[in-house]
Order: sequence, then structure tokens, then C-alpha cells
Amino acid sequence: MTIAALTAYPLATPQPAWSGRSGSVKGLVVEVVTKDGRSGFGEAFSPAAPQAAASIVEATLSPLLLGADENAIGGLWEQMRRALVTPVGGAGAEAISAIDIALWDLLGQRLDAPIHTLLAGHGRSRVPAYASFIGWIPDAQAVAVAERAVALGFRQIKVKISPPLDAALARVALIRDAVGEGVALVADPNGAFDFPAAVTLARRLAELGYLWLEEPLDPADVAGLARLNAHGILPLAAGESEYGPRGAIALVSAGAVDLLQPDCGRIGGITGFMRAAMAAASLGVPFAPHHAGARSRLPPRCIWRRRCRNSASWNAACCAHRSTMT
Ligand SMILES: [Mg+2]
Repeated sequence: MTIAALTAYPLATPQPAWSGRSGSVKGLVVEVVTKDGRSGFGEAFSPAAPQAAASIVEATLSPLLLGADENAIGGLWEQMRRALVTPVGGAGAEAISAIDIALWDLLGQRLDAPIHTLLAGHGRSRVPAYASFIGWIPDAQAVAVAERAVALGFRQIKVKISPPLDAALARVALIRDAVGEGVALVADPNGAFDFPAAVTLARRLAELGYLWLEEPLDPADVAGLARLNAHGILPLAAGESEYGPRGAIALVSAGAVDLLQPDCGRIGGITGFMRAAMAAASLGVPFAPHHAGARSRLPPRCIWRRRCRNSASWNAACCAHRSTMT
């Protein structure tokens, strides 16, 4: 069968209260339709300008894929990257990610198998999860959210922090006091600090028993991350800001991270994600997939739940968002 149509849906929904941010959460969903009428859906991590990624789908990638065999996912992935001219980043990588996930969705439908079976997974039926919804919000709210996470059963929590450094140091201590020693904590400033501040922060987190520090510096500063990691204060994590498996592998090769966290919706879909996962496994680096929590509030989260596909509520929600965005 061949690809008959691609449609890009730039979406937006209000920021959740826990994020501490204003405005909207944005994302991109791509629908790939085959000649026999099946639809596959893919979602990109596209927080800044999903309209840009949608334009790339419509103007460049859709003409490339129309009439192609939807099962030739690896070859189509390479064609898409070449069509955008290397190095592919930003909206281009987001567009490829959404299309690639949609193609995997179609393959799963054709073979009547979930994606983890198609990927010949590692035989685990359960994986540890951490709560990632303590945003940069007032202290009392942050404590309340942390306590709610514990009440829900989470035994690992990510704490979002932000400059100034003194405030960040106070926040990580506050949450440790709130949840006690029995809950594992990690901290994530989303690249907001410079090197001296990151060193101070890492030392304090180590004193408080935090498990890792995520993106303490600009994630593009691979040399800086490697220099900080060489101090061995506590493990560093990064990867969500990578727009292809080569970037993720470069983080590992440079010694910049102890934990790799690519996002399937940004690194090139399931194809790019698995290339990074295989590299990490080969190099013995732990792997913890990133998935923007706020994004999961968008209706297309149903793409992971096959029974939801084509549901009236999904389509109604998607169409409603599309009409408000265009
Ligand atoms: Mg992060």
C-alpha cells in the first residue's frame, strides 16, 4: 500500500497550573493516510512554533512521501532528512518525528501489534516512573504538589528550578524537607545556569541526596557539560534538546551525561529514538526517555492507545484545536 495524504495539525492548549508558565502548550500532530483509508498519527515535541513544522510537512515532506510505500520507514526517514539538507534541527526534526511516529502507527495497525512488540523490547512489563509536575511555582504550591505526588504513589520526583541561584537552592532543600529521605529527587533547571552556578547547585544537590541534575547548562554546551560532569559531583542528565540521534550520541561520547534522555517527538520519531537507544545500550549509558508532561494534555496522546484511534472524542478534539489554530 502507499501513502495517499499527509495532514499537519498545529495544536495549542492552556498551560497547566503546575507549570508556573503563562500562555499555551503547543504541539504538532501529523496524520498519514494510506490508499486503503487507514490513518496513522504521530506527535512532535514542538513547543515553540508548530506552525513552522506544519509548513515543512506540507511544503516539503508531504510531496516527497506521497505515493511511497508506508512500510519502508527506515528509507523514508533517510529521505526526509536528506530533503531538509543537513544538519536537520528545529522544526524540520519535529516534522520528521511526527511523520515517523505516524508511519510506525500504521505499521502497528497492519501487523496488529503494539509498538513495543515491533521493537522487540527488552521483556519488561513495568518500568519505574517519576512525577514531573513541580513547576517553578510559589513554595506553598510546590510543596503541595510534591506531597500530592507522594500520595499518588510516586517514589521519584523531578523538581523544576530556575534562577536566581539562591532561590533554586532554597527550593531543592524545601522539597527534600517536604518529602523526606524516602523519596528520590532529581532537579531540572532547563539549561538556565552558567558554569559556576551549576557547580554550586550540583554540590548542594549531592548534599541533599538528589539522584541527578538535568540540563544545568545550555544543552548545546556539550563541552561545558562534559567539564562539569568530569567533576563527578553527581550524575548529569540531558538529551531532550537533541534533534537527531547523532547529537544524543555526541553527548555520550563527550562524557557530558551519565543518563541520556531523548524525546521521541524531537529526535526523529521512533526511528531516531531507537538509534539513540541502541547507541546508549551499546555504550552502557542508562536511558530515560523524555516526554514533556504538559504536552500529554493534548488530545493526541491517544495515539499511544490503539483503542482510542478514530474515536469520536479524539477527532472532535483534534478538529476543534485545528479550527482555533488556523
Ligand atoms: Mg528537562
